[in-house]
Amino acid sequence: MNLMKLIIGKPLGFCFGVKRAIDELERALDRYGEVYALGSPIHNEEEVKRLISMGLKLIEGVEELPENAVVFIRAHGTTPETFDMVCKKGCIVIDGTCPSVKNAQEKARLLSKEGYNVVVVGDPNHPEVRSIKGHALGEVSVVTSPEDVEGFPVKDKIGVVSQTTQEEGMLLSIVSALVPKARELRVYNTICKATLHRQETVRKLASETEGVIVIGGHNSTNTAKLVEVAKKAGCDVLWIAKPDEIDEDWLKNKSIIGIAAGASTPDWLINDVINLLSCR
Ligand code: SF4
Repeated sequence: MNLMKLIIGKPLGFCFGVKRAIDELERALDRYGEVYALGSPIHNEEEVKRLISMGLKLIEGVEELPENAVVFIRAHGTTPETFDMVCKKGCIVIDGTCPSVKNAQEKARLLSKEGYNVVVVGDPNHPEVRSIKGHALGEVSVVTSPEDVEGFPVKDKIGVVSQTTQEEGMLLSIVSALVPKARELRVYNTICKATLHRQETVRKLASETEGVIVIGGHNSTNTAKLVEVAKKAGCDVLWIAKPDEIDEDWLKNKSIIGIAAGASTPDWLINDVINLLSCR
């Protein structure tokens, strides 16, 4: 008999940006049969396997791209230079860049055009941050914590944008640390609403349950942030990418479990986890 109660967080699964991108990619695969993606189109290995079975080809750089191929730009976007190189190869471009990422790219460009020293709050190795950075003109600093800005010299103008999946508390701490570093500080909070809603959901689940299972790829930043939010809320958290990562020891003695999922986790994978837990 299953005595465990599951509380399913809402919203759950694909955010509008990922859904929009994957819908466009599926339509392109139906139409052209073969589509090249520059880097993984979504940070979820299980979903990528499904797309590969439909004809998706993963490549790392434009040099691997055949002339006149069909190319998919993922929700994280890309730099203007890469976009130009793809177009020069005569490729058909399916642009899946999320509108929220485009907003962050445009704000970075605007700030740099208006003479601000641009600071991007986010992971310097993340493709979205590279795409935002690529849209700014001139030098850009990417920072991950308040400590990163300690050594900054005082500037006339500093302009801040954020990776869309950043944790809001971290953006606030970094902005506070930047206050003494600029005579004029302009901040665009470009954290997307989908991210904020999912973080709120996890905080609520943390207060209502004995533990939260967060479902999402281990390479997914937005999922990592949900795990961080749950831990900050003092919650016992289990991060799994797929059902067979459920840890029986972790479940032991828990009677109320919360379920959350990253914005790049497909519904079918979430349902597999919920079904498995419900059948115990
Ligand atoms: Fe767009 Fe936000 Fe989803 Fe990223 S997490 S794809 S920015 S809606």
